[in-house]
Amino acid sequence: MTNLLLDLPPLSAARFASIEDRVARLLGTGQDVVITQGEALLPLEGAIRATAGPGTTALNVITGPYGQTFGDWLRDCGATVVDLAVPFHTAVTAAQVRDAFAEHPEIDFVSLVHAEAATGNTNPVAAIGEVVREHGALFYLDAVASVGAEPVLPDAWGVDLCVIGAQKAMGGPAGVSAVSVSERAWARMAANPNAPRRSYLSLLDWKERWIDGGRRTLLHAPAQLEMLALEACVERIEAEGLETVMRRHASAAAATRAGAVALGGGVTPYVRDAGDAAPVATTLRGPSGTTASELVARALAADPGVPLAAGGGELAREMVRVNHYGAEATRGAVRRCLTALGAALADAGVSVDLAGALAAAERAWG
Ligand SMILES: *Cc1c(COP(=O)(O)O)cnc(C)c1O
Repeated sequence: MTNLLLDLPPLSAARFASIEDRVARLLGTGQDVVITQGEALLPLEGAIRATAGPGTTALNVITGPYGQTFGDWLRDCGATVVDLAVPFHTAVTAAQVRDAFAEHPEIDFVSLVHAEAATGNTNPVAAIGEVVREHGALFYLDAVASVGAEPVLPDAWGVDLCVIGAQKAMGGPAGVSAVSVSERAWARMAANPNAPRRSYLSLLDWKERWIDGGRRTLLHAPAQLEMLALEACVERIEAEGLETVMRRHASAAAATRAGAVALGGGVTPYVRDAGDAAPVATTLRGPSGTTASELVARALAADPGVPLAAGGGELAREMVRVNHYGAEATRGAVRRCLTALGAALADAGVSVDLAGALAAAERAWG
């Protein structure tokens, strides 16, 4: 019996380059796109270590758990970090970023998470990008949870380092990721004596040995399974149409939000303003007196495959995550989530209107 996962021929440099080009098209970018063979934390960390150092003053926007991690890396690199934290139930505004620059004109690096799958909010990157550009700072963006769910336009928004992963709205593999790099960002790395070199974290290695050499020789054996899966998932998005994929995510978010409110019993959207809610995933608060992780456990007992999770860490008590992304960005998945959540609430003695919730979800799908 043959196994499709085994005995694959090596992936050629030409194929690798063509997958990079395809990802670049998905992002509508003319910048260099480097595919990184690891989960998205690899380019997220690599890009910070390459561009930040003791001379850097970084504005680190914290709208969820990843911002905290970026701040830790930045400090570890010796950068001076100005943290701008907003409550996880909201989004940061361009005005808040403008105020931070006014207070600290020396800021020359801005790190931002676009959409937060972990907290369900999304930030206005286009408007923030304008402010960052006015001040000439380098703009680093984690678009792992937004790509495929809402527009991600590094060139139009002036993003210098845009990191994506395939495992959320793209419906692809988690073991491979990519970063688009502007000329300015490459120059910053080249001038940084502490940028990783001859290292798995190094983006400069890829610049010098892959891109500058005309993308003819790979640095090491490519991870074929992940590369082929990435290619397949981009192909599938192209076939469905990126706009259609994004619309499915927006509909799933709107339907989940409306359905959860209509369930009643004290369920509320975690992100207060619908305009701040991410299309990739919807976060909810359970009724007072309930614990989110317990509700999720009950819901999963009712329907084991349903894409519900409790928030991470501290948030496990108060946040239910509806991960309606990728293949789960469908009416059916939203209905199953609402049904399982309704069953969990009923189980916990909370009276809910499941029929009303499903009807509201259907209307909001649009
Ligand atoms: C999912 C996600 C990542 C990738 O990290 P995981 O720990 O693999 O989930 C990075 N950034 C954001 C904003 C994400 O939502």
